[in-house]
Amino acid sequence: MSIPLIDLKAQYSRIQPEIDTAIQQTISQTAFIGGESVAQFEQEFGGYLGASQVVSCGNGTDALEIILRTLNIGSGDEVLVPTMSWVATSEVVVTAGATPVFVDVNPGTYTINPQEAAQKITERTKAIMPVHLYGHPADMPAIMQLAETHKLWVIEDCAQAHGATINGKKAGTWGHAAGFSFFPSKNLGCYGDGGAMAFREEKHAEQARTIARHGQQTRHHHVLHGRNSRLDGLQAAILLAKLQYLDQWLSEKQQVAYQYTERLAELAPIVCPSEQAGYQHAWHLYVIRTSERDQLKQMLQRQGIQTGIHYPTALPFLPCYQDLNHQPEDFPITSQYQPEILSLPMYAELTESQVDFISQTIADFFN
Ligand SMILES: *Cc1c(COP(=O)(O)O)cnc(C)c1O
Repeated sequence: MSIPLIDLKAQYSRIQPEIDTAIQQTISQTAFIGGESVAQFEQEFGGYLGASQVVSCGNGTDALEIILRTLNIGSGDEVLVPTMSWVATSEVVVTAGATPVFVDVNPGTYTINPQEAAQKITERTKAIMPVHLYGHPADMPAIMQLAETHKLWVIEDCAQAHGATINGKKAGTWGHAAGFSFFPSKNLGCYGDGGAMAFREEKHAEQARTIARHGQQTRHHHVLHGRNSRLDGLQAAILLAKLQYLDQWLSEKQQVAYQYTERLAELAPIVCPSEQAGYQHAWHLYVIRTSERDQLKQMLQRQGIQTGIHYPTALPFLPCYQDLNHQPEDFPITSQYQPEILSLPMYAELTESQVDFISQTIADFFN
């Protein structure tokens, strides 16, 4: 048996006719840039989230970057970011000219710790950027309260959390703005690069759209120094076709996650991911922890089971942040978890017998 970490081909073969039609139609309409699919996708994705203002853009990194600019965050400002994330989260803060201030994560949820964040607030702190890592929502009620007290912008990095909720309210509608990625392997992925921003306020959405469209307000009328960041027509058509299946795929992924947990939870050397009460995980990744991570990973590889590490180095310890001179003891939870995290195969089409095989192989390793 050979089981990949994610299988995009399996997903495509379920919906091939719809995807192929969407692509064909876009080409026959030559609706490559802009056009109906893009507008319709913004509308429908906004409807899915329960967010009235959605602006599409080129990728998830651009989304976060344009949001920072929209909210006038730049030189001299500090932005609180979690230690555990993909590099884009802190990268965009630097691109905007501001300084990322790293905050350790909550044990159990891998998301930014609001109490730790509170201790790092200075006069220069302008925003906090929670990441709903692996698909588990950050503690948004506590983060919103903190933000209100200290007058901070809250920018949600939703790249891994399409469809996640807290008390039924979608991730991406808690903060002032949210960035989504449609990178192919994300819960809602296109067939190339794509991204979107969701805003609470119309004026922010308008400003973001202007920035992403060359600073153009009306045709040939450029009111600010903008840039180009667009979701193209083919990607929008593909996303429209896939959006209607998102909830079904999320519930299938949830089944996979629950089956893993049922099989693995009793193994003492393993910590399974969990959902806080009232929180619905979007299961972008199923990440376990074990002190024998590297040996387990190698053994699974030999059995044809592909795993991943998200991510091998916590953000503050990447070479690009060496100037900040962080030490492992600055972030005790992150430092403890870093060598232990392991992502198991996770996609909606994983069968019960495959999950059984993976779980049994893991159990055999420890017994
Ligand atoms: C994927 C991802 C991004 C960036 O998205 P791109 O579309 O690849 O630019 C940002 N943040 C997190 C947490 C991600 O996983």
